Amino acid sequence: TYILAIETSCDETAAAIIKNGTDIISNVVSSQIESHKRFGGVVPEIASRHHVEQITIVIEEALTKANMTPSELTAVAVTEGPGLVGALLIGINAAKAFAFAHGLPIVGTHHIAGHIYANNLVQPMEFPLLALVVSGGHTEIVLMNEHGHFELIGETRDDAAGEAYDKVARVLNLPYPGGPHIDKLAHEADEAVKFPRIWLEEGSYDFSFSGLKSAVINYKHNMDQRGEEIVAAHVAKGFQDSVVEVLTAKTLRAAREFNVKQVIAAGGVSANKGLRTSLEETFAAEGIPFYVPPLNLCTDNAAMIGAAAHYMFVAGERGNMAMNGRPGMELKTWVK
Ligand code: ATP
Ligand code: MG
Ligand code: FE
Repeated sequence: TYILAIETSCDETAAAIIKNGTDIISNVVSSQIESHKRFGGVVPEIASRHHVEQITIVIEEALTKANMTPSELTAVAVTEGPGLVGALLIGINAAKAFAFAHGLPIVGTHHIAGHIYANNLVQPMEFPLLALVVSGGHTEIVLMNEHGHFELIGETRDDAAGEAYDKVARVLNLPYPGGPHIDKLAHEADEAVKFPRIWLEEGSYDFSFSGLKSAVINYKHNMDQRGEEIVAAHVAKGFQDSVVEVLTAKTLRAAREFNVKQVIAAGGVSANKGLRTSLEETFAAEGIPFYVPPLNLCTDNAAMIGAAAHYMFVAGERGNMAMNGRPGMELKTWVK
């Protein structure tokens, strides 16, 4: 298959052409980070407006870079959810118009399935597979027994890992998005402030990051009260050490319990150097193959949507012209 994939769930307008769910023919991402920076987060109305301005350009560029015409395509895929409804709708309407104009089938894809399938563009996925999904809105451990099968083993009960990174970054007066800045500071630090590890009940694969975030806020507050200066790098390292230790330990325990053949990391926070190193070392010692996509495929892109959509298309999944944005869409198995 040759699938034109479109992604507009949050603040990147993206289009890509993917062959057989494994090969990137073209991959175009237009980021809006600069426009949202001064607000310290994504502003939905601004995101939608940017998507409207960029979507046609980005789709045309994906075709031009691939040196392909619409008649050579097999299908159009688009992120159906989860995400910002106004943002999702721009991509969905563009996909519908393109599919209708060129007589192509349309496939509505789950954003997190996309993040997981980014790995298939690097290394063919092997099952049973365990995915640690860590992004701006999600933190979960997903078990896959075959393509299109998703079982939620654990998830965050409050903040997502990326959300915690961005909130802690604000406390440290770092620019949005804060994840990469905390990562960099943590690597420069020679010392770490000791913050708690939130394990929850014995045996649980769930996560909680809001307590850790509060611990950082309290630490800063107490230091301020005493008239002492905090060392941002020491706080960053303390926070990151806690996040990485819990994510790694729970992923390892799940990998053992479900006897998986492959472990992958997915989502924006999997770009984190500390987390990548920790998972790489842990699974090398365990003897389980571990993969994580290159940085540009960790954060939002359309290539990952095209990879997931290939397997959906092959399994017979089809959307239609009534497709709507689904902000709270759940990750559902598509293999019947
Ligand atoms: P979702 O995928 O859950 O809908 P999203 O699409 O907004 O949310 P992504 O684009 O996958 O999320 O990831 C963005 C998040 O990744 C941000 O919170 C950002 O701070 C975080 N992030 C990016 N790079 C790093 C890094 N090096 N270390 C830690 N966090 C990072
Ligand atoms: Mg984003
Ligand atoms: Fe994402």
